[in-house]
Amino acid sequence: MSDAFARLLGADDPHPVDLRRLHGASEIFLTCEHAGRRLPGSLGTLGLDASDMDRHIAWDIGAAGVAERISERLDAPLVMQLYSRLVIDCNRPPTSPTSIAVVSEATEIKGNQGLSPQQVHARVREVFDPYHDRIDAELELRRRAGRPTVLVSIHSFTPVFHGEQRPWHIGLLYNRDRGFAHRLGDALDGGAFTVGHNEPYSVSDVTDYTIPVHGERRGIPHVMIEVRQDLVETEAGQDEWAERLSGLLLRALAEMNGGQVPDPGKGRTPQVAS
Ligand SMILES: [Zn+2]
Repeated sequence: MSDAFARLLGADDPHPVDLRRLHGASEIFLTCEHAGRRLPGSLGTLGLDASDMDRHIAWDIGAAGVAERISERLDAPLVMQLYSRLVIDCNRPPTSPTSIAVVSEATEIKGNQGLSPQQVHARVREVFDPYHDRIDAELELRRRAGRPTVLVSIHSFTPVFHGEQRPWHIGLLYNRDRGFAHRLGDALDGGAFTVGHNEPYSVSDVTDYTIPVHGERRGIPHVMIEVRQDLVETEAGQDEWAERLSGLLLRALAEMNGGQVPDPGKGRTPQVAS
């Protein structure tokens, strides 16, 4: 078959975008770029062992579970990507050299080597574009309806990277507009957590997509939240962090709106689980 019409997804592959509560009442609008670890049938295993697909190189462990639970608690819309970031990283511009990783941490991704421009384009067209087009369309609908929106992108990070132990429990990431992230940081203050501002990564136009494009360019409040994976790898951990983050988001939201801070109740100042 000619590469010019290279197709990525087949009849048995699901649509890449998983949507929850699009008509939810919350001002919070959630995204999860690295939620899934599916591979389209046409890519086989990408040359990886099944165990590699359990690792952080394939997806953000625990992130989908946390995002879904926050969505449920806050009645907040959530847009998730079902395919592995090894197919195409939906939080990087497609022009980035690491958009389709040929090496991730120390693992070679053989199925990503030597791709033709048509194969690259198929990944953009069939996975990246539908995901971001949907986020853009939903945010545009909200703008036209005059609905205030805070964009919150949920991620998780590996506790050890290239042999180095990472000290943070949670990272709050932003670039040009620190406003909402700092309110969230203030809400976390006094808790027993190590909070990284722009850790373990920082946000830039070159290395990131969701925050620069959907948050900054639209001029809406935003934050990217990174939770350490060992804290959210179990359902109990996901429950605990979703409850905590939901409470913190509500506090930050209320303070931003100059209104009453809701009784934090279940989501109040975090206590560390031993
Ligand atoms: Zn991520």
